[in-house]
Amino acid sequence: MADSRNTEVHTEVHAGGCLCGRIRFTVTGTPDYPHTCSCPHCQKLGGGPMMAWVGFPSAGLSWTGDGGAPTWFDTYPGETARAFCPRCGSSIAARDYGDTTIGITISALDHPDDPRLIPVNQSCRDTAVSWLPQVPDTQHSSTT
Ligand SMILES: [Zn+2]
Ligand SMILES: [Zn+2]
Repeated sequence: MADSRNTEVHTEVHAGGCLCGRIRFTVTGTPDYPHTCSCPHCQKLGGGPMMAWVGFPSAGLSWTGDGGAPTWFDTYPGETARAFCPRCGSSIAARDYGDTTIGITISALDHPDDPRLIPVNQSCRDTAVSWLPQVPDTQHSSTT
C-alpha cells in the first residue's frame, strides 16, 4: 500500500471538450496554476472580458473525440498557439512552443467546479475591463 498515493497522482484524469462535442480530450496529472487572464488575446479569443486557464503536462494530453485534434492558430507566430474547435469555435487550449505544459481552458473541462480549478490569480490586470471585479491573488505570486 506504500505506493497507493503516487499511483493516484499519476492516474488522475480530467476530461473535457468543446460545445458541439466533436473535440474531446483527456489530460492527466495535477492541475497547475489555475488563473484567469484578461490580456487582449484572451478577450478577443474568448469572447468575454477574461479567460480561465489551467496547466497540465503536455505528455498526458490525448484528443479523444471524433474530430481528433483541434485547429491551432498562432497568436504569436513561432511562440504561442491557441486551439479551437473548427466546427463550433470553442476555445480549448493554448501552448508555448517548446514548453512541456499545455494550457487548458477551465470552461472546456467537464467539471470546472472542481475546487482545485479555482483561479489563484489573474494575469494582465492592466488590460482588464473596469466593470468586473478582478480575481484575487490567493497564491501571492509576483505575476501582475
Ligand atoms: Zn465543437
Ligand atoms: Zn491571456
